Amino acid sequence: MATGGRMENSPHVALLPSAGMGHLTPFLRLAATLAGRGCTVTLVVTHPTVSLTESQHITHFLSTHPQVHSLNFHILPFDDPITDNSIPTDPFFLQFEAIQRSGHLLPPLLSSLSPPLSSLVTDIMLAPTIDPVSTHLCLPNYVLFTSCAKMLALVAHFPTVSDKGISIDLDPNFDIPGLPTLPKSWLPPPLFDQTHIFRRLLISNGRGLIKAKGILTNTFQALESETLATLNDGKIVSGLPPVLAIGPLEPYEYGQGPWISWLSAQPAGSVMYVSFGSRTALSKEEIRELGDGLEKSGVRFLWVLKGNKVDKEDSQEIEDLVGYDFLKRVKNRGLIVKDWVDQWVILEHVAIGGFLSHCGWNSVTEAAWHGVPVLAWPQHGDQKLNASIVKSSGLGLWEESWGWGGEKLKGEEIGKRIREFMENEELKKKATNVGEEARKAAGKGGNSEKALIEFMQTSKKIL
Ligand code: UDP
Ligand code: UDP
Ligand code: UDP
Repeated sequence: MATGGRMENSPHVALLPSAGMGHLTPFLRLAATLAGRGCTVTLVVTHPTVSLTESQHITHFLSTHPQVHSLNFHILPFDDPITDNSIPTDPFFLQFEAIQRSGHLLPPLLSSLSPPLSSLVTDIMLAPTIDPVSTHLCLPNYVLFTSCAKMLALVAHFPTVSDKGISIDLDPNFDIPGLPTLPKSWLPPPLFDQTHIFRRLLISNGRGLIKAKGILTNTFQALESETLATLNDGKIVSGLPPVLAIGPLEPYEYGQGPWISWLSAQPAGSVMYVSFGSRTALSKEEIRELGDGLEKSGVRFLWVLKGNKVDKEDSQEIEDLVGYDFLKRVKNRGLIVKDWVDQWVILEHVAIGGFLSHCGWNSVTEAAWHGVPVLAWPQHGDQKLNASIVKSSGLGLWEESWGWGGEKLKGEEIGKRIREFMENEELKKKATNVGEEARKAAGKGGNSEKALIEFMQTSKKIL
């Protein structure tokens, strides 16, 4: 493989991410990987973004990757969002819908690119919109699925549930053909609400998925071999395009922050890293109980706090969220930050011994890469399915009785679990093994690298 400039006959791939760092990050990683392997890459940049972090990362990425081209995509203002009345609508969900509604603007933009495109890679959230676009432009479209293969199986199967009018309310379990039965409590709760935007989007995305030329997933064989095999043998839904596991995707750069000097002063394996990702803000009560738990656990911790789902609206100070007395009591063994941190660099630091995580899929794959044990505390959406993989793979523990975030959990219980978790030597060994598998998959000659090369080769053939 060439790792430098553009190869003869190399594909020109346009990447279309959707909204939120959990979706943008794997796209930027893939863009850098493809460009590093000699593909011509165009990143489609949606304006405006929901969060400031997204626009800052895009600007920085393009300035540090001048070989990646960008194409501005100004989405239409959104006057009449389809919202249901009972649930406050998530700004990221609204953005998915706003981008979908602007899909008709894409063909002239994409067809103006030079050299001409050979393929598209789009986020799952844009799958239904992009199908007519790719057909119109005669371009193969690949979906980059940013969650686990199990969630992919759910998205692929769910349109059938809807078409057949299968009620999912009464049975405590849920079956996806070819896979072990799932407890229904693991599914994203909004799926049970017929009017919820999440359910509506998921069904239309599932329908769009089947029209793709292929599906790229940020997972790897050793983590989800059974699900990947079932997806590829046509049992879940016939006609599903090939699913290629290309993960874990690696970062395109490494950053630091003021926390690095604190971390470097801590003993090896002693620190619990605590983060719930880019868009989950705990309530005041949850913050209080988690703080209490961290204090009672007696372990060292690095806690990344969010006061609001969208960073532009997050103006509270750390002290307002956790209280001055708490800060004083834990100051010798805890660091709390409210800025964006480079999670990859934190997870690879020798001081880190565990990760209390909401189990956003990127976080799971990053912990897997570094062999850092995860204590799972899923909060929303796909995160219980992700947590189930954390548990079954040996990467970590999931205390199912904790339920979803928002359920009343006391500091006492949190503290006890954290302490036990950090003392669990067996778990550390298992997580280390997962890390070895992850790096083997993505490394030279590994399954994920082979799948990436297969994608690049099929992309080269202009249909
Ligand atoms: N992340 C980070 N610093 C932060 C918060 C998040 O680097 O302060 C990264 C994290 O490493 C991951 C992504 O943002 O790559 C979050 O995606 P994930 O799927 O874990 O969760 P989501 O934010 O979508 O809930
Ligand atoms: N998802 C999907 N279609 C939907 C909603 C969700 O395919 O309409 C998948 C998608 O892979 C997404 C995951 O479910 O990453 C979890 O969605 P959620 O909105 O809970 O989290 P996000 O990844 O946006 O932070
Ligand atoms: N949601 C989700 N993934 C996320 C964030 C939210 O699936 O990353 C869903 C969540 O389950 C809820 C809806 O989106 O049904 C609205 O979320 P919000 O945070 O506004 O409400 P909450 O669930 O916190 O009460």
